[in-house]
Amino acid sequence: MDAIQLFVPTFRIEECLEEIRECLDKGWTGLGFKTAQFEDAWKQYTGLPHAHFLNSATAGLHLAVRLLKEQGDWQAGDEIITTPLTFVSTNHAILYEDLRPVFADVDEYLCLAPQSVAERITPRTRAVMYVGIGGNTGRLDAIADLCRARNLKLILDASHLTGTWYHGKHAGAEADVAVFSFQAVKNLPTADSGMICFSDQALDEEVRKWTWLGINKDTYTRTVAQGAYKWYYDVEHEGFKYHGNSIMAALGLVSLKYVEQDNAYRRQIAAWYDGWLAEEERIERVPVAPGCLPSRHLYQIMVNRRDEVMLALNEAQIYPGVHYRDNTLYKMYAYAQGTCPRSTSASERLISLPIHLRLARRDVERVATTLKQIVARMG
Ligand SMILES: *Cc1c(COP(=O)(O)O)cnc(C)c1O
Repeated sequence: MDAIQLFVPTFRIEECLEEIRECLDKGWTGLGFKTAQFEDAWKQYTGLPHAHFLNSATAGLHLAVRLLKEQGDWQAGDEIITTPLTFVSTNHAILYEDLRPVFADVDEYLCLAPQSVAERITPRTRAVMYVGIGGNTGRLDAIADLCRARNLKLILDASHLTGTWYHGKHAGAEADVAVFSFQAVKNLPTADSGMICFSDQALDEEVRKWTWLGINKDTYTRTVAQGAYKWYYDVEHEGFKYHGNSIMAALGLVSLKYVEQDNAYRRQIAAWYDGWLAEEERIERVPVAPGCLPSRHLYQIMVNRRDEVMLALNEAQIYPGVHYRDNTLYKMYAYAQGTCPRSTSASERLISLPIHLRLARRDVERVATTLKQIVARMG
């Protein structure tokens, strides 16, 4: 029996090599060339007005916090309301800028619950950090309304939202900034890269300096740099080495061509799971929010005695995952332990079932059938 893994990325190898060959032929593997092409293609696909290509979503989340902090003159110790059910980058990004993550609880979609967010707003709250977990938007509209009403910025960790459509628009349009991940196991695989999409054009211009050590080549190429002074540039402030490169963008350009087709197949896998698991009431399926056509980065269920169920699946050569462990259970975020009971209980019961493009219908059936036998045996 073959092993069934949680995630396996699929690359269109010949097309990827052709795109990469162009970079190598030209001798241009860094910033510019394919990174600019990829930014344009991404804006075209999503309809988002601005996009800047990065070396990771983690870098993007850091910059989202950093630039909004500069713009709004936030102070150390100011608060960002965030979710405990996420990958740690989401919350580390808040700490990088000496701000305080304040955890709110999730709803039935495993996304931040608007009511819980509203309850945790204080005079020091500056923003909400929202994660569309597994490709689900949850109540993103209600959160956007709340942010507008309370004058808070909305940062969207859209790492799972590539190809999620919400009320007919690509996810991200409702946020002040959306950050996407193109890490290898995400829906648009490269190896490691990401995209930051500000709604404000001034911040889009600014972020291009922050991703390259604060260097501003534009002003000089427009004004001073001519003839012997071509190498001149100005440095206006510090910055980081966070920009993406043309090799990653080459992979991204190919993956982008297939992302709609790939996500349609992910939704097909989800529909197969839905069909086979529906009759077993001991398996709780996480619903998709109204108005959301999900990317289906994850297919999440909840069961009792989760760890035993996982081990039994492993014995049958099936290797699911957990997204995520409640972050307030980690030592560094333990100050918030006990404040988000629904997240904590979900975190003890969640399983992400295998979902990727190499799974055939019979593989999905094998996972579903095995899982049903296991939970029935456990009673
Ligand atoms: C993958 C992921 C990230 C980090 O993305 P990188 O591109 O690997 O830095 C952040 N948040 C969530 C929810 C993720 O799944």
